[in-house]
Amino acid sequence: MTASTDTAQHPMRDWVPSTRTLLVGGEMRDPEGETWEVLNPATEEVIATVGGASAAQVDAAVAAAREAFPAWAALSGEQRSAHLHRFADVLEKAADRLLPSIVNEVGTPVSLARYLQVKMAVDEHLRWAAEAAKVDRTVHLGGYDKPHPTESDVVHQPVGVVAAITGYNYPLNLAIFKFGAALAAGCTVVLLPSPRTPLTTLLLGELIQEAGLPAGVMNVLIGGADVGRQLSAHRGVDRVSFTGSDGVGAKIMEQAAQNLAGVTLELGGKSASIVMPDVDVTKIAVEMHLRWSRNGGQGCAALARLLVHESRYDQFLAAGAAAFDQMVVGDPWDPATNVGPMIRPDHKARVLGFVDEAVQVGGTKLLEVTRPLPEKGYFVNPVLLGDLPHDARAVQEEIFGPVAVVLPFKDTEEAIRLANDTAYGLAANVWCDDPVEARRVAEQVRAGTVWINGGGGMRPDAPFGGYGRSGVGRELGEWGMKEYLEVKHIQWRV
Ligand code: NAD
Repeated sequence: MTASTDTAQHPMRDWVPSTRTLLVGGEMRDPEGETWEVLNPATEEVIATVGGASAAQVDAAVAAAREAFPAWAALSGEQRSAHLHRFADVLEKAADRLLPSIVNEVGTPVSLARYLQVKMAVDEHLRWAAEAAKVDRTVHLGGYDKPHPTESDVVHQPVGVVAAITGYNYPLNLAIFKFGAALAAGCTVVLLPSPRTPLTTLLLGELIQEAGLPAGVMNVLIGGADVGRQLSAHRGVDRVSFTGSDGVGAKIMEQAAQNLAGVTLELGGKSASIVMPDVDVTKIAVEMHLRWSRNGGQGCAALARLLVHESRYDQFLAAGAAAFDQMVVGDPWDPATNVGPMIRPDHKARVLGFVDEAVQVGGTKLLEVTRPLPEKGYFVNPVLLGDLPHDARAVQEEIFGPVAVVLPFKDTEEAIRLANDTAYGLAANVWCDDPVEARRVAEQVRAGTVWINGGGGMRPDAPFGGYGRSGVGRELGEWGMKEYLEVKHIQWRV
């Protein structure tokens, strides 16, 4: 399938996975827990009725993962790598099914879904993990002579059973970021997606079978918060890897603490994009605005807190108008669309609530899209808010919608202070023509990723994660692998 096949009348636009089954111990099982309807947020239609796992099925999935663990951990890195590459081959061939499943359940615009959620997730991230499985991480420490001569090695061994629990906004990527590294490390996995977007993961279950992964190595459950609670507090789980909101992240940490299981938490953000005075804002304004509004602003690293040097502020607003003209809100299957719907009506109401409250406390809508919205679907027109104090809720809290805030700053020290003045620390961007100054600012911003001049995205070999309330631990790269590896010191007398 090539990009040229993307049209509003896409042949797969009505396709949704038919399955209602869970994958437990290599077998498809009918769900025995509660059932609920999955909505298409762009049309408000019910696209599937799914069933969640019962408590006994959660136990069965964890037991299956435990049973599969010793044999999977005992495979050589080359063997696990071959399994993961085979899995990636199957996912690549299934792009035609993964794509509509993501577009229909999340409302992600089709071009973004094709690249970010399918191609990048599989070609770049899963393949990287497949190669990482082969790496020998043994560290030879050499000799030590107290209290008598010895030599030492440090070896890495898989942690065990991983519960991987994900949020709704990028169902395939978020899952691959977790299970790619976990499986490569030799762990086995129980995967639980958001109950709002379970379809891509249900399809993944079928594809796991197709790829011939050994039974129990990857298990797929569906369920809501109850299933998440049971899974993260399960005695058979050695590590919980979670992507979602900071509020739920804190609960996960507490639940996992019952068994002293480790956690990796990839949480929300309120990422700053800093525009320094030496920058020609006419060249960057469009890119900046199209980036934070991507996926309807439903991105953890959305750079939606714009800090602009006061000398560039007016020019920046004037240049931003062109970006707002280019924002097309509507049918995610239309290749021209770049802003899809909010996931649910309550989330749409929450996003609009931030805008109303900001205006009530004296904020101004400086730029906004005012074209009529489609009659159906949970769409929100993008807005840029200004004239707000830095302690306003819209400036401090993650909105997770197409709403950004802009604030002027006087000098570099104030920019850094404002950038660091939230509870989060996931990502940031520094726009600056002077590389020395850009680097100085990047080093002082407290965030897990800092891009300079638009930087790039998430490379598979670089760590991703947050300071403060943005999370605990890191995903991706060697740093992500280490989350799934125990460290053992072996010392022998010589
Ligand atoms: P959410 O926190 O509402 O839900 C995430 C998952 O947690 C869901 O599967 C849900 O069923 C489950 N859950 C809820 N209560 C639970 C409990 N007590 N125990 C166990 N599981 C429970 O998040 P969301 O709205 O689906 O996703 C959006 C959030 O995710 C945003 O805050 C966003 O920034 C964040 N996010 C972070 C990253 C990152 O890499 N840092 C990436 C994507 C999204």
